[in-house]
Amino acid sequence: MSCATPLVVRDLRKSYASLEVLKGVSLTASKGDVVAIIGGSGSGKSTFLRCINFLETPSAGEISLFGEPVRLKQTARGAEPADKAQLRRMRTRVGMVFQNFNLWPHMTVLQNVIEASIHVLKRARAETTDKGMALLERVGLADKHGHYPSQLSGGQQQRVAIARTLCVDPELLLFDEPTSALDPELVGEVLRVMRMLAEEGRTMIVVTHEMAFAREVSSKVLFFSQGLVEEEGAPAELFGAPRSERLAQFLARVS
Ligand code: ADP
Ligand code: MG
Repeated sequence: MSCATPLVVRDLRKSYASLEVLKGVSLTASKGDVVAIIGGSGSGKSTFLRCINFLETPSAGEISLFGEPVRLKQTARGAEPADKAQLRRMRTRVGMVFQNFNLWPHMTVLQNVIEASIHVLKRARAETTDKGMALLERVGLADKHGHYPSQLSGGQQQRVAIARTLCVDPELLLFDEPTSALDPELVGEVLRVMRMLAEEGRTMIVVTHEMAFAREVSSKVLFFSQGLVEEEGAPAELFGAPRSERLAQFLARVS
């Protein structure tokens, strides 16, 4: 595993037609950092994560992953990844957990967890099955390995989705509001798993509305407002003594 900085983003911009959604966002995440991104709906948080994970292509700016600048080319339709091999390589090193789990409904829990490892990374089935079971054990769901997603609660499904993401050994984990779709009583079990990952020293970028989690677990917080980082800093500073009026108002609303 390399010791290069997992993520450096410089002056990232993204527009959809005439709508400028990201207006110049920068972020460095060093190994082991847990970066919380907070902010109102529509402020560009998901778009930012999707640019890091190649689900969207930035309009301008630079992204380096693990010390490698992501190469883009300009086309008539806008910027596109220039190097398909780099794209494939990076996709397995950056894992993403979504709000709505996105599990395959026709596959069992264990099949969901090991699918990408076997079919994308071409790893051996027997070893991967052992690894998948060990990951299910870690998220507290080994006994559910033969169930289908529809037989699980939302919190259980999200823990399966996290195990699935971990199965390809990503070095950078992105979470986009992983608990927003859950009933309140199921939020804690997912946050506990995420806290465990943070304590293991994994590098994580977490978009969240869970302010207590951001405050206790993150090493740095970014407050997004209208496509810009309005304020950033250590959680104690940002939550304890917000400098910007917008952040103060946001915190008053959500807490
Ligand atoms: P957040 O995650 O902070 O709620 P998003 O990044 O999802 O914000 O969206 C930011 C803005 O970009 C919103 O105004 C949204 O409507 C717009 N947007 C997001 N995705 C697209 C898209 N594919 N096409 C057009 N507009 C989009
Ligand atoms: Mg979003």
